[in-house]
Amino acid sequence: MRKINTRNFRLATRSTPRDVNRRIVLNLIREYQPISRAELARRMSVRRGTLTPLVRELVDSGAIFEKGTAATARGRRPTMLCVRTRGRFVVAADIRWGQSAIALSDVAGRMIARDTFDTPATPEALVETLADHVTRLLRTHAPHGAEACQGLGLVLPGMVDRKTGRLIYAPRLGWRNVDIRSAVAARVGMKTYIESAPIACALARLWLEPDVTRSVNSFAYVSVSEGVGVGLAVNGEILRGEHHTAGEFGHVSLDSSGPECVCGRRGCWEALACNGATVERYVAAVTGNAPRGDIRTRRTRRPGFPGIEEVVRRARGGETAAVRALVETGENIGRGLALIVSAFNPGRIYIGGEITEAWELLERPIKDAIMAGTMPGGATTTQVVPDTSLAQYRLLGAVALVTAPTYMALAVG
Ligand SMILES: [Zn+2]
Repeated sequence: MRKINTRNFRLATRSTPRDVNRRIVLNLIREYQPISRAELARRMSVRRGTLTPLVRELVDSGAIFEKGTAATARGRRPTMLCVRTRGRFVVAADIRWGQSAIALSDVAGRMIARDTFDTPATPEALVETLADHVTRLLRTHAPHGAEACQGLGLVLPGMVDRKTGRLIYAPRLGWRNVDIRSAVAARVGMKTYIESAPIACALARLWLEPDVTRSVNSFAYVSVSEGVGVGLAVNGEILRGEHHTAGEFGHVSLDSSGPECVCGRRGCWEALACNGATVERYVAAVTGNAPRGDIRTRRTRRPGFPGIEEVVRRARGGETAAVRALVETGENIGRGLALIVSAFNPGRIYIGGEITEAWELLERPIKDAIMAGTMPGGATTTQVVPDTSLAQYRLLGAVALVTAPTYMALAVG
């Protein structure tokens, strides 16, 4: 039961019931497509006549289309309704420490073209780089697509104030309080959406895979990359907290004498479980040397230093040091997940990142560490699963930022 916010509300108008019903129709079509009008009416418990104007408006707006026919037992052939994805594009950008990715996708998250670039040192340089790539992607792959492009979704490795579009703090990039959304929108000339990567990934699970997330009311998405971040979804809504820091478990210290973290503290969950930590443990085991130098520059890809993909590959090939490094990462991930399970008892936890390629090595230590770190009962009901859209999980998050608002429940009251 949601309380009406008497300080921040929208009044219903004459068109509100119709808007609400149109969104419901659109969401049902998206989840059950291809779907006939009769089936849609049955699912909504209304007469077909009630549906007709709503479906007509959605067809006219280009949101859905009528597709061929489906044979039935009696030989009647109803027209099926589908959400229109073809010819409707989204530019998705995934900004990471080191290397970033940008893609042209359709609104359902099917990638049309993808490119990578070295992440610039400053937000100003990033805006210019993004503008160049967007122009090139649209010119090459969607010559008539600039008008059909629904917007640019940008996921960032840090806290984002969604209302003002400012990046509050990205520890690894060292960027603070940057008005990134307006700067990108003005330069690229496209409606721009920004969000922290794990929250965007949670949104992608909600909106791009509705049939999968339908079965759980609440879930957590844990992104393990250069950092560790968490997005939380409760009853179909993303939890943001009072000041956009809900889910910032990555910098909770689990071990005050643990390795140093980019935030300046020691033993943060991120410092124990991020890709750099896994690689460092592996390199230290192989060379016998403890890592040296500045933490921020150290934990990235350097010549002679294997990347996380290589460590994962060696582990899957059976190399003992690599297996040990990943098993320890699994334990460390599980230690942090115990906090999430205790705080929030989600029905499911998704893990996204390069390490999930070695899920067979991670699953057991993750689960054992959750069991060891929680009261009996809660943890046994939480599924922990890898995000299978491995190579593009954060780009899908960026796509969801642009497409989700079309489907969202209208906020009134
Ligand atoms: Zn930290």
